[in-house]
Amino acid sequence: MKRTDELPPAPVAKSDAQWRAELSPQEYAVLREAGTERPFTGEYTDNHRVGIYRCRACGTELFRSDHKFDSHCGWPSFFTPLAGDRVIERSDDTLGMHRVEVLCANCHSHLGHVFAGEGYGTPTDLRYCINSISLTFEDEATAPATDPAPNA
Ligand SMILES: [Zn+2]
Repeated sequence: MKRTDELPPAPVAKSDAQWRAELSPQEYAVLREAGTERPFTGEYTDNHRVGIYRCRACGTELFRSDHKFDSHCGWPSFFTPLAGDRVIERSDDTLGMHRVEVLCANCHSHLGHVFAGEGYGTPTDLRYCINSISLTFEDEATAPATDPAPNA
């Protein structure tokens, strides 16, 4: 896949002006311009509470606390999304590196990148390295955990 590729139309499609009005400048820079927050600065990097992580732009449930692990990389890390179709993965060859970008499938906002084969010992050996500012955490302390199996 190419970087500027033919994604299917986003179910939630807004103009840049709308996104700018709804998001803070920091959120806009990451979610809509594929920026990266500085490592170890995000509010969810060391969040161990039980719950759901939603897309901060559109509210779609993207990740669960069950799938979060301590990567010590400076950003929240998950070994799988809540469901494979919640995110879009596409090649990102910016910055002279080959990476795989992770987007919200519902609104095409930038979430972070996914890295494979790093040996973290998680069930998938994937690290979804996601900006805290791309997410909104929702406590789910009273709800039972749903299927903890990774979505292959
Ligand atoms: Zn979204």
